[in-house]
Amino acid sequence: MKLPITGHCLCGQVNYEINAEPMAMGLCHCRSCQKETGSSYLPWLAVSDDAVTSQGEIKWYSATGDSGQPVQRGFCPNCGSTVFGKPEAIEGLRSVAASSLDDTSLFQPQMQIWTKDAAPWTHLNPDLVTFEKNPEN
Ligand SMILES: [Zn+2]
Ligand SMILES: [Zn+2]
Repeated sequence: MKLPITGHCLCGQVNYEINAEPMAMGLCHCRSCQKETGSSYLPWLAVSDDAVTSQGEIKWYSATGDSGQPVQRGFCPNCGSTVFGKPEAIEGLRSVAASSLDDTSLFQPQMQIWTKDAAPWTHLNPDLVTFEKNPEN
């Protein structure tokens, strides 16, 4: 994959660069991601937190994840676009909302997670590795 990977929010106030290959890519169907995005799932790239640089104010909202530890969700305070996530249960990991990529064709999901919460009207992709909740480590 050509680096850096770049993206921005809807209004352009938040811009970022990722300077490492993503560790994983997937779709999260959990209820929190549905609420956060206003959509049926959140498409995410998992990257090393160190590999991300961003410009522009980000507002962080913290909610408790399934692990019992906080998941920080970062969005643009101007336009409300979901951009980043930081699950505190996984040190050094940042998720990036794939819909914010400048080139969305870079996103190639390998897995779909939290399918137990998937909306009944969502089309689940039978070609993806599927986890009912979080992936087993
Ligand atoms: Zn914005
Ligand atoms: Zn989720």
